[in-house]
Amino acid sequence: MNESAMRRAIERKREGEALSAATWDELVESYMEGQIGDEQMAAMLMACVWRGLTIAEATALTRAMVESGATITYPDGMFVLDKHSSGGVSDVVSLVSLPLVAACGIPVAKLSGRALGHTGGTIDKLEAIPGFNVSPSIEAFTKQVQWIGCAIAAQSEGFVPADKRLYTLRDRTGTVPSIGLIASSIVSKKVSGGAHAFVFDVKCGSAAFMHDPGQATDLAQALVAISTEFGRKARAVVTDMNEPLGRSIGTGLEVIEARDVLRGAIDDERTREGCLRIAAEMLELAGVDEPMTAATTALRDGRAYEKFAAMIAAQGGDVDAMERLEPSATVAELRATRDGFIGEIDTVTLGNAAREWTVRDHVAGIRVNVRVGDAVKRDDVLAYVYGAHAHVARIHDAFKIANARPSVRPFVYATI
Ligand code: URA
Repeated sequence: MNESAMRRAIERKREGEALSAATWDELVESYMEGQIGDEQMAAMLMACVWRGLTIAEATALTRAMVESGATITYPDGMFVLDKHSSGGVSDVVSLVSLPLVAACGIPVAKLSGRALGHTGGTIDKLEAIPGFNVSPSIEAFTKQVQWIGCAIAAQSEGFVPADKRLYTLRDRTGTVPSIGLIASSIVSKKVSGGAHAFVFDVKCGSAAFMHDPGQATDLAQALVAISTEFGRKARAVVTDMNEPLGRSIGTGLEVIEARDVLRGAIDDERTREGCLRIAAEMLELAGVDEPMTAATTALRDGRAYEKFAAMIAAQGGDVDAMERLEPSATVAELRATRDGFIGEIDTVTLGNAAREWTVRDHVAGIRVNVRVGDAVKRDDVLAYVYGAHAHVARIHDAFKIANARPSVRPFVYATI
């Protein structure tokens, strides 16, 4: 496709037309070959954000992205699972639930992404572990899934390179929140990773790309529908993202939190519930009986932590360094200015701040000390801010104190 054909395609999308599968195919191929540039692609992405994609278009875009790289296949009879979040803050679910599922005997293979907007990325978090290789070769990745039962890698020149480029462009141009673009980005990674069944954790709320349950349900349905087009089993769980899922925000801080949940050293109810629920959905999809009991047992008896350490070692990570990882020694406190109840947490501000600070320091970030609904007294610590370049003033207004206790939201809104 040349520049003028691309301009016509942008104009058609701008006017709300659905583009044909052949157009999506050509468009991705031409972008990857350098015949069309970032400026035209960014305009197309913005048109997609405003006009949306049909399921047929999102499926075609997914297929074009899958075909831009390799697709893994596993030996006959081997059943492999994958899981993906639509993007959250303090979302440690992948780091905990993947080794947990592998510890229950079901292999997991995950192609993952970096931070997008204010949300964290599993790949950036893993890079906080010294030596961890997020770009193993396709052969090394496949063998690791077969031998260790658990591997996580980034998009690369081999794996879904079109998603790698479009993902970065969407992050730079504010074109993330589109159901069709999110669904095709996610499913392209899942199909290329070769797993047979997927669980999607679709975040919903003020700190998610989908703000209300209606939009989140539409995204969940799109993810399942596109996966089905590729012959995969899929399930989506719509979960709350109006406050951080875990307590820590920041790449290294989230590795520390995941490590400590896996070691049984943190017993935060919401974090555990989130990780166990997604792990149980994955195990159920794989046909494991009593999936929640299996997941809880693997977490309690240390097998999940052993799997986490084995995966890190297999990908070149320094397990001792991971075990010694601590938040930055420079810490400041944010305190309550009056008595009341935590009414809201501006989680987008927390995510953006932590993303900026961790560019220079893996162990900078924020640890929230309160949840929505908690009673607080004047001077109570609301959050700890870590890092020599971090500024507590940046998150000064992020915790809203109300006179009355707000109703506590459920963790799961729907399963599709
Ligand atoms: N995760 C992805 O991989 N892609 C998106 O677009 C959003 C979340």
